[in-house]
Amino acid sequence: MAQDQTEGKKFLESVHDFFDHAAQYSRLSPGILAQIKAPNSVYKVSFPVEIEGKIEVIEGIRVQHSQHKLPSKGGIRFSMQVDEDEVKALATLMTFKCAVVDVPFGGAKGGVKINPRTSSVKTLERVTRRYAAELIKKNLIGPGMDVPAPDYGTGSREMAWIADTYQALKYGETNALGCVTGKPIGQGGIRGRAEATGLGIYFGIREALADSELLEGKKLEGHGMEGKRIIVQGLGNVGYHAAYFCQQDGALIVGIAEREGGIYNEDGIDVVEAFKHRSENGSILNFQNCKNYENSTELLETECDILIPAALENVIHSGNAGRIKAKIVAEGANGPVTREAEQVLLQKGIVILPDLYLNAGGVTVSYFEWLKNLSNVRFGRMGKRAEEASYRRLVNAIEDASGKSLSAQERAFLTQGADEISLVRSGLEDTMINAYHEIRDVMDQKKIPDLRTAAFLTAIEKIGVSYEALGIFP
Ligand code: GLU
Repeated sequence: MAQDQTEGKKFLESVHDFFDHAAQYSRLSPGILAQIKAPNSVYKVSFPVEIEGKIEVIEGIRVQHSQHKLPSKGGIRFSMQVDEDEVKALATLMTFKCAVVDVPFGGAKGGVKINPRTSSVKTLERVTRRYAAELIKKNLIGPGMDVPAPDYGTGSREMAWIADTYQALKYGETNALGCVTGKPIGQGGIRGRAEATGLGIYFGIREALADSELLEGKKLEGHGMEGKRIIVQGLGNVGYHAAYFCQQDGALIVGIAEREGGIYNEDGIDVVEAFKHRSENGSILNFQNCKNYENSTELLETECDILIPAALENVIHSGNAGRIKAKIVAEGANGPVTREAEQVLLQKGIVILPDLYLNAGGVTVSYFEWLKNLSNVRFGRMGKRAEEASYRRLVNAIEDASGKSLSAQERAFLTQGADEISLVRSGLEDTMINAYHEIRDVMDQKKIPDLRTAAFLTAIEKIGVSYEALGIFP
């Protein structure tokens, strides 16, 4: 691949290559496959923001990759690296991710070129609200249209600003809180959303570790999480929670890689303490009893059982793939392994748990949050009878609107009170287990050697059924 290629272009090419490779196994016509692959719309904005007395022009983008199911769904990324191809690649992955876990949304993604670490809270609020307003005034986001969520560089704070901006501009609109997910609990959020992606990653890894057939000959001792040596890249929301839940189940987090460097201890690192240390000192380096790595990418190449890249795309590429020594690469981030690198890893017998499956826990719980917002009910406050009646009305309304029956799990979400967190977690667990076995079945039936191709194919076939049924307008 050419040296001067941007990371975004490389990423989009990888996603397209993964798609094309899986599409060879599909029964769908070339026309439908082309329709599935192409992003439906790209909206770019430039807007002025006053930052410390000066006017700066900020660039933002929202890509809606598919609308075969509405709303479309996907996070908003704040980073100086944001570019059109990167956001297209991320929006494309969202389409397949939703299909893999049977979340009835299309795929989308947004990005704003801003550095959240060096910007003040005031600036971030102005930028977030103005970006949201640009999308709202063109009717590009809304509970039934396109629903953003957190991604790299954003969190519940930004989602609360988006919800508030939406409500201010669309005053009185029904179900307005469903215009964005990942909100704080007090602002229409759902318990369990913050840790959902990391917890989903844990469930996915646990499922793979129990899969003797998949791991045959991989020299992993024992089938459970107990004693597995894990290196994680990125101690943000995704990496932290993935490491935390694996550690809770007996794994040893032996290495943590961050922007400023990495730390390693073969006896295991307490992730909670390491996180505190980084928050207090502004760096992961010099944590108790750990060896420092000034160059954190070296940590990715260190011997371990499971490597969890949970930061950004393209971190395992043709230049370092040959040196990766992990037995399993568990993709917490979107697109951490390029197509070229994947071929090298697979040849070495490394198992890759692909992003479109493994990190789908975030959007799964976003779906639960959105369902909760559409209900407009504060759960657990009514008498039992009233609650049941209200719940029946709600289920009917949602089923009528979506034309589909809700599962027992989904009904449970609409009736819960204090049990919200356990319902979220068990719903997420079931979703991750089901999706894993669906992908494995496709692998077996079609004799596909790797999980990513099988996951893409599973998604492509489901999306294809929708497109075929929808027909073409006009
Ligand atoms: N940004 C997350 C992702 O990449 C979550 C998307 C969502 O919840 O809509 O999957």
